[in-house]
Order: sequence, then structure tokens, then C-alpha cells
Amino acid sequence: MATFKSGFVAIVGRPNAGKSTLVNRLVGQKVAIISPRPQTTRNRIQGIVHRSDAQVVLIDTPGMHKPATALGREMMGEVEQALDGNDIVALLLDASEKFGAGDRWALERVARSSGVRFLLPNKIDVIPKSRLLPLIDSCRRACEFAEVIPISALTGDGVPLLLEKLVEHLPVGAPYFPADQFTDQPERFLAGEIIREKVIASTYNEVPHAVAVLVESFEESASLVRIHATIQVERDGQKGIVIGRGGETLKKIGTTARRELEILLGVKIFLELHVKVQRDWRDSPARVRQLDWRRQLEHLGKM
Ligand code: GDP
Ligand code: MG
Repeated sequence: MATFKSGFVAIVGRPNAGKSTLVNRLVGQKVAIISPRPQTTRNRIQGIVHRSDAQVVLIDTPGMHKPATALGREMMGEVEQALDGNDIVALLLDASEKFGAGDRWALERVARSSGVRFLLPNKIDVIPKSRLLPLIDSCRRACEFAEVIPISALTGDGVPLLLEKLVEHLPVGAPYFPADQFTDQPERFLAGEIIREKVIASTYNEVPHAVAVLVESFEESASLVRIHATIQVERDGQKGIVIGRGGETLKKIGTTARRELEILLGVKIFLELHVKVQRDWRDSPARVRQLDWRRQLEHLGKM
């Protein structure tokens, strides 16, 4: 297969643009958590698309924003890494929102990135077509793009064309990952992300992104995976909200997370959750680093 193609595609954009939705849709499996609230993606996530003629490795990134906390700085460091050193940089733009200063800033940064650049106006399922052209025009003035492909990550509109174009622009090369692998994330990290998603969904609007999940142990046996995780919040009030009246909310978080993990991992799960207050962890570089899964693995001597 002399013409097999493979390479890395960074999916970048402002918070809430739909990056994680797109990665999941392209991969066809859930590898990134999705939330209607911005800034839910913290770590670099690789989703892998396997085709008979190509392998596309996708890198989901945290939303591009001006950081105000140690967590924010760590997240933007990930974005910087993704902007340089990948074959393709795909900038996702929420076309349903008014184009603002933040979008312009993101465009200017992408204009200085290395690699082939794609512009993907997203959420075209909720906007009139007439709004697209002026938007694309002003983007093209700020940054040169090899391809501009309007899509809906949610409905999948435009996504097959996007995949064709990605493959077209990738270099010829052997696959990077085996065919049965769809993410490079350890299962324990995925477990933490799923739990975090359920916390955000169950405490909607009440607990902000002050929540983090630490997977304390992940023990596999033949018939069962035992997971013990700590949900970390910043205030006593937030702890109360996560636990809920009579422990109801925490129970719901546990049940929904367990069900999804059982489907995802294909085994029976025993899930034990605790809630802990860790004041202002987002401002502490050491705490933020503790939550990074790569470093969690380093601690365990696995990386
Ligand atoms: P990220 O922060 O860029 O990773 O954005 P997410 O993938 O988490 O999506 C943010 C929100 O936008 C979620 O509520 C998604 O369901 C929604 N969303 C993503 N793509 C689309 C789309 O194509 N159309 C519509 N209507 N909503 C979308
Ligand atoms: Mg995301």
C-alpha cells in the first residue's frame, strides 16, 4: 500500500465551538467529554480514525482563551503544543455565535501555526446559509486556509467531506496505531473524564468548573473492574450540591457513570465515589499537575 496516508490533526477553537463533538463523531466512539458549558476539555485527547487507505489521528484541545489561573495556563500550554508540530490544524468556529474579539485572537494565533490550515465553520444546522459567506470572508482575510468546510458536528452534515479532505492533505506514511485502538488514553483516565462529565451534567449551573476527578485506584479482575475515584471541589457548598439531598445527586452521578463505563469498557464495573473539598485547587500549579493523567501515570511508574 504505497499510498497509505497517516498523520496528526489538531482540532482547535474557542471554548464551546464543538471540538469534542467533532472528534467523537469522526472517531465514531466517545473519546472526549461534551458539555454545553465551556472549558470541559482539559487534556490532550487523541481520537483515531481508521480507514483502509488512511489513519487520521485527532488531537482534541482545550478551548483557546486568555488564561487567568494555573489550570488555564496549563490548558493553553496544551493548545500551543497542538498548534505547532501537527500535519493539519483545523480551526473550528461556532458560526451560530457572533464573531467576536476572541475569535479574531484565535484566528491570528492559528495564522502563525505550522501545518496545513482548515477552517471549519460549525453548527450550520442552526444558522441560515446567508450568514456563512460573510463570516468565511472575514476569516480568510485574517488567515490563509487550504480548505474551508462548513459542518455540523452534531448532525454530521459536511463531516464525510471533511474526512476526505483531511486524508487528501495528510502525508503518505505508515499507520501510527494498531487498527483496534481508537484512543491513546488509558482507561482509568477515560473513567475519570466520564465521571467528571456526569458531575457537570447532574449539577448543571451550580458547580462550575471547580470540579476535578482523581481516579485513586483502577483494579481489573477477570469479571469486574473496581474503580475508586475522588470528586474534588473547591467549596463546602459545592460538596453539598454534588452529594445532593440524602446523597441523591451523587448516587445519580455514580449510576450514570457506571452504566456508560460498562458499555464503553465492556465489563461489569464497581464504582466507589467520594467527594472532597480542596480549596482553590485551580490556582495551584502543583494541584493542577497532580490531575494531569500523564503525570498520574508517572507517579504510578507506568510511563
Ligand atoms: P468544545 O468546548 O469545543 O469541545 O465543544 P463541545 O463539543 O463540548 O460542544 C459544546 C456544545 O455545542 C455542546 O452543547 C454541543 O452539543 C454543541 N454543539 C457541538 N456541535 C454542534 C453542532 O454542529 N450544532 C449544534 N446545534 N450544536 C453543536
Ligand atoms: Mg471540548
